[in-house]
Amino acid sequence: MTKKTIYLDHAATTAVDKKVLREMMPYFSDKYGNASSIHSFGQEAAQAVEKARMQVANFFGANLNEIIFTSGATESNNLAIKGVDKAYFKKEKKKPHIITTTFEHHCVLETVKKMEKENLIEATFINPKKDGVIDVRDIKNAIKPNTILVSVMYVNNEIGTVQPISEIGRMIKSKNSEQGTGDKKIIFHTDATQAVNYFDCNVEKLGVDLLSMSAHKIYGPKGVGALYVKFGLDIAKIQDGGAQEFGLRAGTINTPGIVGLGSAIKEVKSQKSKVKSMVVLRDYLINKILKEIPDSRLNGSRIKRSPNNVNVNFSRVEGESLLMMLSAEGVFASTGSACSSGSLSPSHVLLSLGLKPEETHGSLRLTLGKNTTKKEIDYVVKVIKKTVEKLRKVSGNVLKDYYKNMKHKA
Ligand code: PMP
Repeated sequence: MTKKTIYLDHAATTAVDKKVLREMMPYFSDKYGNASSIHSFGQEAAQAVEKARMQVANFFGANLNEIIFTSGATESNNLAIKGVDKAYFKKEKKKPHIITTTFEHHCVLETVKKMEKENLIEATFINPKKDGVIDVRDIKNAIKPNTILVSVMYVNNEIGTVQPISEIGRMIKSKNSEQGTGDKKIIFHTDATQAVNYFDCNVEKLGVDLLSMSAHKIYGPKGVGALYVKFGLDIAKIQDGGAQEFGLRAGTINTPGIVGLGSAIKEVKSQKSKVKSMVVLRDYLINKILKEIPDSRLNGSRIKRSPNNVNVNFSRVEGESLLMMLSAEGVFASTGSACSSGSLSPSHVLLSLGLKPEETHGSLRLTLGKNTTKKEIDYVVKVIKKTVEKLRKVSGNVLKDYYKNMKHKA
């Protein structure tokens, strides 16, 4: 008998939807032309890419020439931040100031930290409040005369909290109009990777100039994503080569991947009706865990929360051991983001909420998908409860000593 497996790690990645896969298939080995080739074989691929561009542009309420295909959200975020800085420096020959948050995905955080270390920029990192939500006033107060970019994620990938993007957008718009029509405008970027499935991503409504997304979080393929770039924005390319993607992103166009992205984003629209039932299921899971497992706590706001995210902390439990034992039982979850697993350092997201390192370690992220059922949730809670009890028996005291030692060393 094959073992029952339950996948609750949809924030890490999702399965490619069968319909999406079917649309992608011809572009691997039948219609394999290079979309930049002039001959009709290449043009057939180019047409498929342009259809996908239209699907993506429609979803974000953007124009066709405002969508740049990339290899995923990591690249989109790098291009957004480094590209804006590069264009500014070329023109002004001055060090700009960038505002971001302390709980961004590593691909934003490390990019900004590295640029700061290399003396290319000045940077301010805003902490969220205890509930995992950024206060717009904190961003406003951090603005300096040389601020050129504000980058705030839409939905946090670990704790699922939703940020007030359109409010920040309005605040930046009014700051920019106070400053008149001068050259220097504050540019607003959001990493919407975890938001696309569930939230309104219309770029006009959000008031963003740049928006990053990734296909593999929306039942599309891995290794492809997009960056929305508002028309006329000053941004420079960050890798050299061909003139693909309006000269902003060199490299042969990933036709099957892009077709998959277009197809997946079209499906998101038709899935929107399922969001309400996911919220019900999420709340059922939260309530069941908090009720049935003693000393458990929800990380991040209960209300301003993505429909698919449950992030709970179990005191006196080591998160990595919990994950491994759950995996042995066929339950696939995560502690922090998948990108930081393998490192036992406390989650930067949980630390940003003001938790102590010892309060971060017993955290578990369960992220639901479009096919998650109540029956699966019931089974998962039963397994978690049993596993937490077991771990508390064997490791509670060991952990206490470990943290006592850590404090002495600090
Ligand atoms: N930003 C966020 C918020 C994410 O969740 C992820 C994926 N974990 C990324 C960026 C990176 O996306 P990709 O895997 O497409 O590079």
